[in-house]
Amino acid sequence: MDFVLIDGKQVAGSVRERLKEEIAELKSRGHVPGLAVVLVGDDPASQVYVGSKVKACAELGIYSQKWELPAETSQEELVKLIHQLNADDRIHGILVQSPPPRHIDEEAVILNIDPRKDVDGFHPVNVAKLVLEDAAGFVPCTPLGCMELLKAYGVETAGKHAVVIGRSMIVGKPMAHLLMAKNANATVTVAHSRTKNLPELCRSADIIVAAVGRPEMVTADYVKEGAVVLDVGINRIEDASRPRGYRIVGDVAFDAVKDKCSYITPVPGGVGPMTIAMLMANTVKACRQLVG
Ligand code: NAD
Repeated sequence: MDFVLIDGKQVAGSVRERLKEEIAELKSRGHVPGLAVVLVGDDPASQVYVGSKVKACAELGIYSQKWELPAETSQEELVKLIHQLNADDRIHGILVQSPPPRHIDEEAVILNIDPRKDVDGFHPVNVAKLVLEDAAGFVPCTPLGCMELLKAYGVETAGKHAVVIGRSMIVGKPMAHLLMAKNANATVTVAHSRTKNLPELCRSADIIVAAVGRPEMVTADYVKEGAVVLDVGINRIEDASRPRGYRIVGDVAFDAVKDKCSYITPVPGGVGPMTIAMLMANTVKACRQLVG
């Protein structure tokens, strides 16, 4: 079957164009959206993520603060900074880069973020708003990006069977809620590590969202003819032919699966580029809601 390759870079680009207009409108009223990114410790991957977020802000004219705290920063010191950022009128979005060092209780830290500035959508108030379908809440950026991709390509979700593989708070659970919400109307099954007969279950899916973290787990055997496949996975696998000695693959065996699909996202270049774009969208939304 001829498949459509979902181009995340392109959709992320049009999200950014839309945001530029919104930011210009906010600026014309004297408001500049602001994001604070907090990194504790010196994990190289986290440093790269934080750098990309700050760069994305600069490109859009969003004010940003980057806080790089030493690994030995205490929970109290981190919470104190969060309270300071909650009170800072220049800041509309706050995110603490995950994972923090082990001595930090991430959930307890998140509870201290003002839910109105919780642009990652991790605070329990925002989790509740997602479940309640309250559009004023903040939804985690990656599943929000997946919905944006479906919308951009006109993929019908109403009445379709969606199987979400993975039940994390960052991807799987919010994804399931977004798909079952009244503005999407899919029938959703959430699969996880204890699910039985996963290939058979997935073969009944019109839409598969793979958010597992297992390289190329979803093979042709999982996919029915004409299915839509969104691959959230980002996995490193060894590859001696690459200069770095590895390459990035998703949770879907792309080459084996693509010809069965109507739409499929590549890795990289599919879901990945959407995450930062939606973080920018959440920051602009937070600004709009805070300044009225
Ligand atoms: P996680 O480890 O928190 O959750 C993985 C989920 O997969 C769990 O719910 C688990 O039950 C399920 N699972 C594990 N083994 C399974 C199996 N054999 N069969 C079925 N389910 C199984 O991971 P996460 O944070 O949700 O991330 C998932 C993947 O998405 C990772 O590869 C991660 O790197 C990637 N990710 C990408 C982005 C992005 O911007 N594109 C953002 C977040 C996560």
